Amino acid sequence: MSCIKSTTGTTADGTADGLGFNAYPAMQPRTPARTPQELRNGRRVKDAGLPAAGVYLPNNNVLAPHMRSPEYVQMSTAAAMTLGLMPGKMHRCECTRCLNLLLTYPEGCRANCAYCGLARHREAERDYADRNFIRVDWPAVPMEQVVDIVARDLAGSPFHRMCISMITHPRSDEDTVSVLKAWTSRVDPGAIPVSILSNPTTMTPDDVRRLKDLGADIFTVALDAATPALFDRTRGKGVQSPHKWDKYWEILLAAREVFGPQKFGAHIIIGMGETEYEALELVQRLVDLGGHSHMFCFFPEQGSLMDHLPATPRDQWRRVQLARYLIDYAGVRIEQMTFDEHGRVAAYGLPAAELEAIISDGVAFRTSGCPGKFREDVSACDRPYGDSPPSNIASYPFQPNKTDLRKIRRQLGIPVVRS
Ligand code: SF4
Repeated sequence: MSCIKSTTGTTADGTADGLGFNAYPAMQPRTPARTPQELRNGRRVKDAGLPAAGVYLPNNNVLAPHMRSPEYVQMSTAAAMTLGLMPGKMHRCECTRCLNLLLTYPEGCRANCAYCGLARHREAERDYADRNFIRVDWPAVPMEQVVDIVARDLAGSPFHRMCISMITHPRSDEDTVSVLKAWTSRVDPGAIPVSILSNPTTMTPDDVRRLKDLGADIFTVALDAATPALFDRTRGKGVQSPHKWDKYWEILLAAREVFGPQKFGAHIIIGMGETEYEALELVQRLVDLGGHSHMFCFFPEQGSLMDHLPATPRDQWRRVQLARYLIDYAGVRIEQMTFDEHGRVAAYGLPAAELEAIISDGVAFRTSGCPGKFREDVSACDRPYGDSPPSNIASYPFQPNKTDLRKIRRQLGIPVVRS
């Protein structure tokens, strides 16, 4: 087994490093099809009622057993390999530094986000525990077994952080608390801190406070869409999904109050139809509030309502990735940058030599996320190949080498871009 998948995304103009960008009119999701009654809410799995036993590897042509959080959690393929629960190797990566856990239920996530492999509209096609998410499978594992493995050798653990990803489900608030307690009862959260990737739709500010009181270190909100219109189109009414932009901001601002500076943030996906300026304006707003942005490159997830659309052209992605790093970590403000008539970054607001030093350092092009133990700007959450195939890496899950940096410079059009 490998976390490398051979799928490649097209780009807006059909070239490998296209000079197009994913504009709003072109990025219209498909309309979700109606799911037959008998296949809704995980009925197939619940009716069969197969007892869960040990690790469940998805897509092995067996009906998924009845697995539920908090007893069961899913984890990324990279985390399962790092824990020794799955065989395989990751391209150019030794291991992942973040143990990404995902709540799981036969009913699955009740939202329908257009870019997501876990979305509700897939009920007819695939049981929840078998759905791909950010390009990889997510094995299901008893939570007790996860804690056993990590607690057995805490000093030797490769993990710099653990993250609980909530989904949209009536049980997810309570079960996040139970999973967090199961972890902190045996793993010192000072040794491996915990992040919460929240589901604001079902949460109140009191839920945010409770997670902090129980030892969570960082709280993030997956805004994903950079503007209210794009949010509504991809996560709200546009796809019969329950999320609302204002509710996400209510919980994000509650997290700012409760968790404090540098301990909250938001996920943003680039290339779903926002302009570069709109994305970076959001990045600046988060920094001004005292938080961080964690950025992903749009990739058409197989089976999602956007799987027919082009992946983000690499030049668009690199410009936003670099500009985001400058705003988040180098003290540059969006007002110092210039943009063209399409909202594309034309200049980064730094003298050429300073910009060159940041590009050469390479960290700007690594996966962004909650920090690990190496550097504040190096994410523990490296999500190997979660937003691109290894043949055309968007977020580098390792330090880019000289060859990688040459490719990145080409993608950025460095001779053209001057401040
Ligand atoms: S709420 Fe999260 S897990 Fe559920 S469909 Fe939306 S992005 Fe996917």
